[in-house]
Amino acid sequence: MKDTITIVTGGSQGIGRCIAEFLAEKGGNIAIFDIIDGNEAVEVIRSKGVSAEFFSVDVSDFHAVEEGVENVLKKMGKINNLVNNAGITIDKLLLRMKEDDWDRVMQVNLKSVFNCTRFVIRHMLKTGGSIVNISSIAGVMGNAGQANYAASKAGIIGFTKTVAKEYGERGIRANAIAPGFIKTKMTDALDDRAKEEMLKAIPMKKFGDPLNVAYVVYFLLSNYGSYITGEVINVNGGLHM
Ligand code: NAP
Repeated sequence: MKDTITIVTGGSQGIGRCIAEFLAEKGGNIAIFDIIDGNEAVEVIRSKGVSAEFFSVDVSDFHAVEEGVENVLKKMGKINNLVNNAGITIDKLLLRMKEDDWDRVMQVNLKSVFNCTRFVIRHMLKTGGSIVNISSIAGVMGNAGQANYAASKAGIIGFTKTVAKEYGERGIRANAIAPGFIKTKMTDALDDRAKEEMLKAIPMKKFGDPLNVAYVVYFLLSNYGSYITGEVINVNGGLHM
């Protein structure tokens, strides 16, 4: 990762922050895009001896992302990798789901991936690069109460494979990760009964840690993953195989 710049969206907390810190431990420089303040995360990352910058960017906003990418280039000089991680849930059964619930989840989870990739890839055309998109087990197998979320995460998989096909010959790789249940504030919100039921169904009988996702992101971005593109890697303790 030495001398690389990686944009991590939603990198101020949760899985994104863990990814950013782990890449920094491997020598990578980090740009965080988030709507919540990332300055504390940036301080921690800098203490690992790399450069890091926080950019306040709503990744669902096309023009804000364009500006954010330009600011990364101005401040940090280049972009080698992109991790599209920012995401939200607004869970409801389909019959109760409002138009806004659908639109917001699509904008934050899927349109953001288009926005960030669209503006970053221009620069990657000159240098090559690697993109990792954080999908979800819900996008692979569906999940009751998550029609909007599952559709957005399935959309990410189709998008990832298309980018891999369009830009493979230009030295740009695109892969997706489909995490299962990973302990973060997103999953803390579930009630205890739902967590117990989930645990029963996981062959490894434990929830995942954000680091389990970060290891795979590192593998895919680094030279270890240099002949892998268009792939979706499950990180779920066997919940879906
Ligand atoms: P998290 O703790 O909520 O972190 C996501 C970060 O993205 C938050 O800082 C969030 O800010 C930010 N964000 C939300 N909307 C944004 C926007 N429009 N622009 C920029 N940043 C935005 O979630 P997480 O659990 O780490 O999840 C990270 C990714 O993994 C998500 O894509 C999620 O769908 C995926 N995933 C998670 C799990 C799991 O079990 N945790 C499983 C499968 C997939 P706010 O706090 O203000 O929303």
